[in-house]
Amino acid sequence: MNRATQSDTQPLLRGPVPLSHLLIRQFVRSGDHVIDATCGNGHDTLLLAKLVESPGRVWAFDIQQQALDQTAYRLTNAGCIGNVELIHAGHETIAEHCPRPVKAVIFNLGYLPGGDRSVVTLPDTTLAGLEQALEILAPGGIVAITIYPGHEGGAREQSALEARLRQLAPHTFHVWHMGQINVPVDAPYFILIQKSL
Ligand code: SAM
Repeated sequence: MNRATQSDTQPLLRGPVPLSHLLIRQFVRSGDHVIDATCGNGHDTLLLAKLVESPGRVWAFDIQQQALDQTAYRLTNAGCIGNVELIHAGHETIAEHCPRPVKAVIFNLGYLPGGDRSVVTLPDTTLAGLEQALEILAPGGIVAITIYPGHEGGAREQSALEARLRQLAPHTFHVWHMGQINVPVDAPYFILIQKSL
């Protein structure tokens, strides 16, 4: 079996993103309203657009035009642009742009792969986006966050996020921490938050 065929039939759990996609597939259904808080090159937006299908809707944010263009290109090629709203704004404005409730919000932090590495997600705006996401989340809905502590400023963002996540009331939010154990301590990892029913 070649690599492409193998990855089509079973996920290869190398790093946190395939794990996040595995879990997102469990929660997002046709017709759902969902948010990609950092659309970047559009991989997560495409997954969401495919899962919610045409009765559903995706709101996808990025502060860089390059990221929105890349995402639009990927969605158009896959025939999925129709149910996606691309928003050139920071995720700290989620509450202004999105309906409520939403079933899932994905944050894939850090810099745009292949883009300007000095443009990164920042603790204050990430926390503001997180608060708004938690507020508009449907009961049983999820916030999925991929965190990259290894880049410049990444460890500060990690500490700020984890400090806030530890404060969330355990009967209201179920907060999970998932990362590979046989990788460097600053390797990327994944947080899943589910709002209680
Ligand atoms: N989800 C993307 C994908 O599937 O290709 C990868 C996202 S990339 C790791 C992080 C993105 O966050 C970058 O494109 C960057 O421009 C964006 N970003 C930085 N600050 C932001 C903010 N306040 N709101 C929304 N996006 C932001």
